[in-house]
Amino acid sequence: MATEKVDVLVLGAGIVGLSTAIELQKAGRQVTVIDKGEPGFGCSYGNAGWMTPCFSMPLPQPGMFFKSIGWLLNPDSPLRIKPQPSWLLVRWMTHFLLAMNERRMNQSVAVLTDISKYSLDFYADLATRAPKTFGFDQKGLLLVSGTDDGLKAAKIEMDLMNARGVPGKLMTGEEISAMEPSLKPGLKGGVYFPKEAHSEPLLTVQALVSELESLGGKVLSRAEAFDFVTSNAGGSSKIEEVHTTRGKFKADLVLLAMGTWSDELARRLGLRVPILGGKGYRIITNSFDVKPQHPIMIVDRKIAVTPRYDGATSVAGTLELVNQDFEITPRRLNNIITGTQQYMHMSKGEPEIKEIWRGLRPCTPDGVPMIGFSKKHSNLFYQIGHQMLGLQSAPGSGRVAADLIMGRPSITDTKPFRPERYE
Ligand SMILES: Cc1cc2nc3c(=O)[nH]c(=O)nc-3n(C[C@H](O)[C@H](O)[C@H](O)COP(=O)(O)OP(=O)(O)OC[C@H]3O[C@@H](n4cnc5c(N)ncnc54)[C@H](O)[C@@H]3O)c2cc1C
Repeated sequence: MATEKVDVLVLGAGIVGLSTAIELQKAGRQVTVIDKGEPGFGCSYGNAGWMTPCFSMPLPQPGMFFKSIGWLLNPDSPLRIKPQPSWLLVRWMTHFLLAMNERRMNQSVAVLTDISKYSLDFYADLATRAPKTFGFDQKGLLLVSGTDDGLKAAKIEMDLMNARGVPGKLMTGEEISAMEPSLKPGLKGGVYFPKEAHSEPLLTVQALVSELESLGGKVLSRAEAFDFVTSNAGGSSKIEEVHTTRGKFKADLVLLAMGTWSDELARRLGLRVPILGGKGYRIITNSFDVKPQHPIMIVDRKIAVTPRYDGATSVAGTLELVNQDFEITPRRLNNIITGTQQYMHMSKGEPEIKEIWRGLRPCTPDGVPMIGFSKKHSNLFYQIGHQMLGLQSAPGSGRVAADLIMGRPSITDTKPFRPERYE
C-alpha cells in the first residue's frame, strides 16, 4: 500500500477529533483526519445535542460512594455499572472512587466549565457563517423536578454554576408550567439556564468537516487504523508509521481521538487507556401531545428532552458503564419512555419512534478528558475521554490541545487533563 507523508494525523473523526483538527489547522499545522467509518457516526451521532456549560460536572462527585454501589446492583437505575469480570473495570473503579473528593471535583468543574464556555461561543459564531444549518438554537435549558431532593440537586448545580459565571435562576412549578406547557402540572420547581444552546449532533459534525476543509484540512472516511510501526532511538520511542485500511501514513504528530475505541488501538502501542463506555440511548419521536419548546432535563429520571430543528423531539437518557458492549436493552429503553410519559404530555402506550440509537460515551474514571503528549511515544498526543460532555466541550478541548502542541499559554489550567495520571 502507498505511504503518505502528513504533518498531523488525527485518528477519529468524531466531534472531538474534528474540533481539535480545526484548532490545529488555525494554528498553522496541516491536518488530516481519518475515520474507520463516516465522520460523526460514533458517539457523536445521536447525543442529546446539548451545548450547556451548566452541565460541567464530572461523573465522580463527593458522597457518591454508596450510590455507586447501588448502581452495581440496580438494573433500572439511570446510572448503572454493569458488573463484569475485568481488570479494566477494577482499575477504572479504583480511580473513580479516588476521584470522589471535593478538591478533585472543584478542579474538574473549573476546567470543564472553561472549555464548555469557549465551545458555546465557537458554535454560536459558526452558526452565523456555516454553509448549512446544524440546528443551533440558543433557547436556554430547563432543569425540572417533581421531588424535594431533585429540586435541591438542581439548586446546588445552579449555585455552583452561577459562581462560575453561568447564569441560572430558580423557578416554581407554576412558572415552569407557564413557560413550558409540554410538562405536566405538579412539579416542585426547577432552574432555568437562559444562555444554553442545543443543535443536531450529526449536522454539527458535518459543519465541522466543512469548516476544517475550508481551512485547508483533510478528512478521509473508511480508513481504519489497525497497526503502528515504532522506532526507538536513545531511549525515546516514536511512531514512524500508522497503518490503515486505506494506506500507510508517516506523520510528525499522531492524535488519538477514537472515543471508546481508543483503548483497543492503544494496546498496539503498549499502552492501556482506562476508558469505559457510558452507554446511553436516544430516541426520536413525534408522539408528544404538546411539543416541547425548550431542552428539558427531568432531574429525577435523568432524561434529556430536546426539540429538534425538523419538528420532532429527541429523548435521551441512561448511563450504563460497559466495555465495548453495544447491545440494546429494551428494559432500559422502556425506562426512558415511561419516565418521559410520567412528567410530560406524551401519548400513553408505545410511542411512534422514528429512530432508536445507542452510543458509548468515552468515560475516564475522574470524568476529565486526557489531553496531552504521551510519556511513552514522543509524537503521540491523547485527546480522549469527554464522557457526557463531548459535544458541549469539544471546541474548547481542541483549543487546549492546540495550545499544548503549539507551546502557547492555554485558555484554562491544563494540569487536570494530563494523561500521565493514567499512563
Ligand atoms: C445518549 C447520549 C447523550 C449524549 N448527550 C450529550 C449532549 O447533549 N451534549 C454533550 O456534550 N455530549 C453528549 N453526549 C456525549 C457525547 O456524545 C460524546 O462525549 C462525544 O460524542 C464523544 O466524541 P468523540 O469524538 O470523543 O468520540 P466519537 O464520536 O465516538 O468519535 C470517535 C471516532 O473514532 C472512530 N474510530 C474508532 N476506531 C477507529 C480506528 N481504528 N481507526 C479510525 N477511526 C476510528 C469512530 O468511527 C468514531 O467516529 C451524549 C452521549 C450519549 C450516548
